[in-house]
Amino acid sequence: MNKIRRAFLVFLAVASFVVTALPVPAAAPHDDTADWYYPAWLGSSPYSPSFQVRDTENKYGRYTKQTKTITLKDLIKFHGHFCGGLVESAGALRIAFDRLFADGVIDRTDLRIVSNNSACGADVASYLTGARARFGSHAIDNALSESEFYVQQVSTGRTVHVKLNPAVYPKEVKTQMRKIESGRFEPYDIDRFQELQWAYAKRTVNKPLAESFIIRDVADFVWPGSTCKDLGVRKDNDYKSVPQHETSAR
Ligand SMILES: [Zn+2]
Repeated sequence: MNKIRRAFLVFLAVASFVVTALPVPAAAPHDDTADWYYPAWLGSSPYSPSFQVRDTENKYGRYTKQTKTITLKDLIKFHGHFCGGLVESAGALRIAFDRLFADGVIDRTDLRIVSNNSACGADVASYLTGARARFGSHAIDNALSESEFYVQQVSTGRTVHVKLNPAVYPKEVKTQMRKIESGRFEPYDIDRFQELQWAYAKRTVNKPLAESFIIRDVADFVWPGSTCKDLGVRKDNDYKSVPQHETSAR
């Protein structure tokens, strides 16, 4: 076999391997750059959680082949501000998803969640799971703490309970929160509260999340009656498993 022919066969073998080994196209790079509402350290800290999610292609669409990445920056844009509760809740749900989704991809068509009615934690719950109070898939239970959730994979019924390890919650944040909510505070106290919350968030994303949260599987979880009345039935995920038609396969 001459050298040119051998080189050509090696090229074909390598090309064939590369093509067959190619994964589903990766998601486009996500925007995790610093901004006025998003300090650089929050995106670059070693344990800042991010989330790879799968949804459907359209209303009545099938599952997408590709995934999307949700960052803390995306959560802040949805929620409105960067707060301790947002980072804490994102960390708790990262731990829950790691337990429920072995491949690391969160199926947002297959989740429901129970949270308390916190402005911050409940927003994170809804965004990351795709669950909605108006469809009854996001139940509110104010007996739970701000970053405490029951997360259920609907197709399997597998449910996990996750909450903050009380040992890591800084007492000064709670003290400052109570002071503000009492109505007896100075303008400085608002700034001080933010400082404390951000410092707490910074500590959270600079150590393994497993050190901050407690998770357990819950057998035979009974879905609670929601305090928010259902307003309808979600229909836009019902066709996610329809097989590809041969002429539309992509
Ligand atoms: Zn908040």
